[in-house]
Amino acid sequence: PLAVILPKEDEEGSRVEPRPYVGAKRFTQLPLSDRSQRGLKEAKYTHMTAIQRASLPHALCGHDILGAAKTGSGKTLAFLIPVIEKLYRLRWGAMDGIGAVIISPTRELAMQIFDELRKVGKHHSLSGGLLIGGRKGVETEKETVAGLNILVCTPGRLLQHMDETPNFDCSQLQVLVLDEADRILDMGFAGTLNAILAQLSKERQTMLFSATQTRSVQDLARLSMSDPEFLAVHAES
Ligand code: ADP
Ligand code: MG
Repeated sequence: PLAVILPKEDEEGSRVEPRPYVGAKRFTQLPLSDRSQRGLKEAKYTHMTAIQRASLPHALCGHDILGAAKTGSGKTLAFLIPVIEKLYRLRWGAMDGIGAVIISPTRELAMQIFDELRKVGKHHSLSGGLLIGGRKGVETEKETVAGLNILVCTPGRLLQHMDETPNFDCSQLQVLVLDEADRILDMGFAGTLNAILAQLSKERQTMLFSATQTRSVQDLARLSMSDPEFLAVHAES
């Protein structure tokens, strides 16, 4: 067993039960929409990696996730699949606005996440946007951002939109993903993240992934999550 799973007990019994899916090895064994199953199949994803096996059963139940696994272990699908499934189950549509925000430390990583989202989310009718600045100016982004359902952003650009863009409304946010949280903090974005978190609804699912579990990552986790599942993968999948 390479994945260490430490499930949390729930006194109120209100947590959805991930146990039937703990131990699943293939994506087809998970309770995913046909649209997601088709996207995964066409992208030739069949067997889950270790971090995906460890986290997906919990993340799909709506739990907050604190995931630790090294680069290249497949963390992107570990959060993209729950994001897509959550919005799909809620029948999220154009009128519902921003349902998920994914924060990534760099433009390049954000673009990779967006490419993966397009691949596995291909058969869904959810809309997605990249808010990373660069060639397209912030003014162009401001015109297109309204009505997008899933945003993949760098921290500075997201906060800029929150502060400057009229009608930029995250009040219905269902899922927040902090990818490569250790790197986000290393790059000096702690203050930006705090300002972002202060503007987001507390009634949401949060997934935080990080290659290392530093003190500052733990502080961020305390600030952004409630009763998270801690899932660590220590070896190759
Ligand atoms: P990380 O974010 O942990 O660094 P990525 O999510 O970028 O890792 O995935 C690394 C590579 O592994 C990507 O090329 C991705 O397409 C591939 N990959 C991810 N999950 C699977 C899977 N279940 N089966 C096969 N390849 C996968
Ligand atoms: Mg990654």
